[in-house]
Amino acid sequence: MPALPAQPSPLDADLAALPGLLDAARDHAAAFLAGLDERAVVPGRAAPEPLPLPRHGSGARAALAAFTERWAPGMSAAAGPRYLGFVTGGVTPAALVGDWLTGAYDQNPNSALDPAGQDLERETAGWLREMFGLSAAHEGAFVSGATMSNTVGLAVAREWLGERLGVCPSDDGAHALGPVRVLSGSPHSSVGKALSMLGLGRRSLVAVPTLPGREAVDPAALEAALRETSGPCVVVANAGTVNTVDFDDLRAVAALRERYDFWLHVDGAFGAFAALSPEHAHLVAGLDLADSVCVDLHKWLNVPYDSAVQFTRRRDLQARVFQNAAAYLGPLGDIPDLVHLTPENSHRMRALAAWFALHAYGSEGHREIVERCVARARDLGRAVEAAPRLRLLAPVRLNVVCLTLAEDPTAQRLAALADKAAPEVFLTPTTLDGTPALRAAFSNWRTTAEDTRRAAAALEAAAAAV
Ligand SMILES: *Cc1c(COP(=O)(O)O)cnc(C)c1O
Repeated sequence: MPALPAQPSPLDADLAALPGLLDAARDHAAAFLAGLDERAVVPGRAAPEPLPLPRHGSGARAALAAFTERWAPGMSAAAGPRYLGFVTGGVTPAALVGDWLTGAYDQNPNSALDPAGQDLERETAGWLREMFGLSAAHEGAFVSGATMSNTVGLAVAREWLGERLGVCPSDDGAHALGPVRVLSGSPHSSVGKALSMLGLGRRSLVAVPTLPGREAVDPAALEAALRETSGPCVVVANAGTVNTVDFDDLRAVAALRERYDFWLHVDGAFGAFAALSPEHAHLVAGLDLADSVCVDLHKWLNVPYDSAVQFTRRRDLQARVFQNAAAYLGPLGDIPDLVHLTPENSHRMRALAAWFALHAYGSEGHREIVERCVARARDLGRAVEAAPRLRLLAPVRLNVVCLTLAEDPTAQRLAALADKAAPEVFLTPTTLDGTPALRAAFSNWRTTAEDTRRAAAALEAAAAAV
């Protein structure tokens, strides 16, 4: 009897069927994206029963079917137009194409030994530098998000403190610096996390008073805090706070360096995008004066998650912190390989999604997205002002609407309001000056005036029901 031909393994079968598999994934993705508008914004389903570890596997087609059945129904419409929680971008078509190809090409853009990926990252970082109005003195590197970008910027700041004090924290440890002061008005929570990771400690953060009724730092209070700081320190200036999108006066802050010795890090995670719009660019005037700058890309650039950029004027210090000496990697040199610039060694070619987005739509296309989001935020702000049960807590400065209940705005009632509205619009909670509130952040290119109208109607209806 002739032997039966051996069953191909799931992996061999998948390889043989690859084009068809990619078509199936494309069809799934296209259907998901086409359904974003109808999908409950946050479905709020319980997680499916856990599956045991598959032993032999069933191939990619069966995996897609299982994902479609078990997990897809619970996925939120985060990529859609009414997911206004946190600061959440969507994904433009070109960004999605770039992201898909990132997986297909599977590059590790970290060294000149295989240079194409890192050359592409550098081209993309150069485009971004220009788009945000930074000069050639700022070198950019890609990281996974703004938390990492803040961490890298503050790591370079830490090394700079060492330079001023004649010690080397990257070799000797952060304790070589002694106590460090990091001054900031309304820092993002990720700054504390970064300081914890860097061994400077969350308590190194010194809260500087803000202007009355504002989240922007009071420059006079900052000067007073600098005056009572002995030795060099770090200032984290905020360009776009998450509650009210307030901006520190970056030029006034930077001017203090004439009299005080500090590293100026600017967290412009999403606020830096104000630079794209002539009407709002004044908000980030002086950004180029910063020693390091954080900009998130998976927010307002509308690329998929896992993308931010970090700029610094002191790449030499950056390489001192992040150098990864290994026999198989090249020497540091004047233009260090990317492996020597960020916490990661290997990393995906995350710049490709941004490269596609910038190539496809240009700075003008992205200016238009920014202005469109600001217009939508203003629409919602007006609707909130007109709604008797809701109250606008801060002027709409850019792309965030901070609102609360007109009466009895407890955290519980606001949570109930957000919950009731969630199938239609997703907002996240906050507290502003002790008042529990909700924020709606507009950073998705898909959000239309009609979406904003739906969001306002859902919030009003929910307010009437809590
Ligand atoms: C979102 C945000 C961060 C953190 O960004 P991740 O991408 O979540 O790491 C930091 N700073 C500001 C101002 C932000 O808005």
